[in-house]
Amino acid sequence: MGYSNWVSKHATKHKQIVQKLLAQNYTKEMIIEYFDFENMKAKESDFCPLYAKNKKCHEIESLNCYLCSCPNFRFNDDGIKNIEAKTQYSFCAIDSKDGKQGIYGEKIHQDCSRCSVPHHKEYVEKHFDLDWMKTMKQCSV
Ligand code: SF4
Repeated sequence: MGYSNWVSKHATKHKQIVQKLLAQNYTKEMIIEYFDFENMKAKESDFCPLYAKNKKCHEIESLNCYLCSCPNFRFNDDGIKNIEAKTQYSFCAIDSKDGKQGIYGEKIHQDCSRCSVPHHKEYVEKHFDLDWMKTMKQCSV
């Protein structure tokens, strides 16, 4: 599945959950709390394939899933540019010190496996929007 396809499917799932919570008069704070990994794993098993494995994408204590993937992620399924006979498909807009460019054969993808920036509650509060797609609007380049 390409990035665009994933974003489209994830946006639909995200929206359905947010709308369900809004119908129950959840506040911003309550919605953010609801997206805590442990709660999501118990109540929204289809949101992330890792829930079934009881596995976090990043081993931090309070992992919040609201902003998965990350507003700083940039991608283009057709390729962004060529670097030494390889094609770059994604990168980090803030060049996080915890992220890196991963090389997979002739493809270069952003590797966020060691970066937990979007999963901290404080970050989610700061970049919160009920419409997940708005927060991610700059990701497709
Ligand atoms: S490296 Fe970190 S900040 Fe950059 S796109 Fe990945 S998760 Fe986001």
